[in-house]
Amino acid sequence: MRPTKTKIPEHADLLGDPRGRRVPVLLPFPFAGPFDYRVPRALDPQPGDIVMVPLNRREEVGVVWDGEPDNSVGDNRLRALISILDIPPMRADIRRLVDWIAAYTLTPPGEVLTMALRLGAYRPEPIPLGWQRAENPPEIRLTEPRQKLLAALPPGTPRGSADLLRETGVSPGVIRGLADAGLLVPVTLPTAPPFAIPDPAHPGPTLSPDQEAAAAELRAAVAARRFGVTLLEGVTGSGKTEVYLEAIATCLREGRQVLILLPEIALSSQWLDRFTRRFGVPPAVWHSDLSPRTRRITWRAVGTGAAPVVVGARSALFLPFPDLGLVIIDEEHETAFKQEEGIIYHARDMAVVRARLCHAPCILVSATPSLETVANVETGRYRRVHLPDRHGGATMPEIALIDLRITPPDRGRFLSPALVKDITATLERGEQAMLFLNRRGYAPLTLCRACGHRVQCPNCTAWLVEHRARRELQCHHCGHSIPTPIACPECAAEHSLTAIGPGVERITEEARLTFPQARILVMASDTIAGPHAAAEAARAIEAREVDLVIGTQIVAKGWHFPHLTLVGVVDADLGLNGGDLRASERTVQLLHQVSGRAGRAEAPGRVCLQTFSPEHPVMQALLHGDLETFMLREAAQRRPGNWPPYGRLAALIVSADTADGADRMARDLGRAAPHGDGIVVLGPAPAPLAILRGRHRRRLLLKTRRDVAVQPLLRAWLADVPTSGSVRVDVDVDPITFQ
Ligand code: ADP
Ligand code: ZN
Repeated sequence: MRPTKTKIPEHADLLGDPRGRRVPVLLPFPFAGPFDYRVPRALDPQPGDIVMVPLNRREEVGVVWDGEPDNSVGDNRLRALISILDIPPMRADIRRLVDWIAAYTLTPPGEVLTMALRLGAYRPEPIPLGWQRAENPPEIRLTEPRQKLLAALPPGTPRGSADLLRETGVSPGVIRGLADAGLLVPVTLPTAPPFAIPDPAHPGPTLSPDQEAAAAELRAAVAARRFGVTLLEGVTGSGKTEVYLEAIATCLREGRQVLILLPEIALSSQWLDRFTRRFGVPPAVWHSDLSPRTRRITWRAVGTGAAPVVVGARSALFLPFPDLGLVIIDEEHETAFKQEEGIIYHARDMAVVRARLCHAPCILVSATPSLETVANVETGRYRRVHLPDRHGGATMPEIALIDLRITPPDRGRFLSPALVKDITATLERGEQAMLFLNRRGYAPLTLCRACGHRVQCPNCTAWLVEHRARRELQCHHCGHSIPTPIACPECAAEHSLTAIGPGVERITEEARLTFPQARILVMASDTIAGPHAAAEAARAIEAREVDLVIGTQIVAKGWHFPHLTLVGVVDADLGLNGGDLRASERTVQLLHQVSGRAGRAEAPGRVCLQTFSPEHPVMQALLHGDLETFMLREAAQRRPGNWPPYGRLAALIVSADTADGADRMARDLGRAAPHGDGIVVLGPAPAPLAILRGRHRRRLLLKTRRDVAVQPLLRAWLADVPTSGSVRVDVDVDPITFQ
């Protein structure tokens, strides 16, 4: 029997044996490792137990860790555990995952613990208070906020205040006001919302022979209850989702849990609908937008097994599944799985680790797998299951390259006559078209025609992006914004500032002029805020309330719009500038994804790529639909220099308040750089974003042969060159961006 939260007063220490048992406790702070604590006689802590311990003058929550105490603190200075909390302990596989991520990414384990612990989920449940509509409300006039709040509260369905306030954006006073006026009554909310159990016997579609063969392999992998990774590859629309839903069905029949990671949860409304159609009920979802209450309830439901299927974003990785039987990573090539701030880790790779720690099979899904995954298939570490064709006779879209050197748009325009003609024809047929440009705002650069001045961010090495509707210029790196100036900030010439280049806002302006009849929907992360707005946009498109969709990368992925037959890519070369290691690979993946939105049903699709370099291998691969040859060529280019995936990379990003401070640290690191067989250090060099949020940045890149372990090298290297003052060194193992 686990003791309940019994607080043992400090003097109880005296009762403990001073030379008695000690345990390591990991705390959610960036210390190098766990600290030892003495165990009072009344307690019997086991690894994973969540405990209260003294730390300096405070009490903190920690987790009893595994392994031997380190004994570096003498018995006389050792402090005692205060209590063991009466909540489920942290599972061993999650403790191992924390250790693994900490070691791999060179992050203090306590910092990883913070991410895994979700302290909120462990706090005792407050009494859940909610509100519902009064049965016989008085007839009174309602202000707009009051109407809004009532609209969010259908009769008979109580909801929590936090939840209501978050959704409606009204102030807490509105609820109080409505309660005082007798329109709302307080209620106790049910403590656990039901997580309905998905039914694997619910009928699914009849699979094609290719799909059936693929599903059979995945089912066998799930039934084997062993770790192993399978790549499920197939062009967009080939039925990959349908096939892996079969693997989920098998896992459910075995009574085990499933985790599905998706790159952007905002894209999942259609995904959730499909899941619901297949299994009768929706799965549990996990993402950063959940209310604290839903978060806590979901966390616990996963922990007790009450939630058999979870679909989530990166952090779902740390949920406490007691019986994980399958891990699926959809769109495995997506760079959104890489967390670039704080703890720098790749959720796809860590999900594979999680699957291995749980002895569960793992399925990576993509139409355009990453070169890393392809290499793992080549060496036989991963299996590959392939769906060659689009489902139901839908053909791959026809791809056309529009050479902007030969058929440029009219002056001041961005859509070439050929593309305009295609869009016009599409709209005349009553079909839908999409314009894709991966850039928010009106124009990426504002230039003074009088003096040539370019309006820059004061905090970053970046131009300010014009957002014309909001009448401001904004930095897309730090968020700094200024009202759009009338005069040049440099030479004071009036009305001399000119917008250079397009963003989606400018393309929308042009489209309104060119296609005045078309009903246009703009989808960018700043116009479509959150999953609800995305779901509503998707519904409007499916319902054919929209003729022309104009969007950034949020339109690129996952969506299935049967009436959309034309995709126009405004600037296909956009991702190729900058020239980092993966620029070509990423551009092919993104443009293939965007292209995949066209012609997914009976009507054939067409894709027009506007480019200045039609001969570029990326454009040729897309034109001929031959991604395989492209990837082989990429591989052949990376192999000789030991570039990933044939070698290893780790980046050190030095940042400091002053350029001098950053330079000095970067030079010191350069001098102490590791060397040896198969080890190269490139740099230091100014980062492309040489100043970010006011901090000066330098980069070094460690490149090694594949058989060299980079973590010990990095650890020794960093230990040699201590940081001081404002200087920071961030470590990015397996970097995918080089900014
Ligand atoms: P992918 O994930 O490879 O892009 P999907 O699984 O989304 O492909 O399938 C594309 C479309 O075809 C979806 O609307 C899906 O429901 C439909 N589809 C795929 N396979 C079948 C099938 N065997 N029977 C009926 N519809 C199918
Ligand atoms: Zn900035």
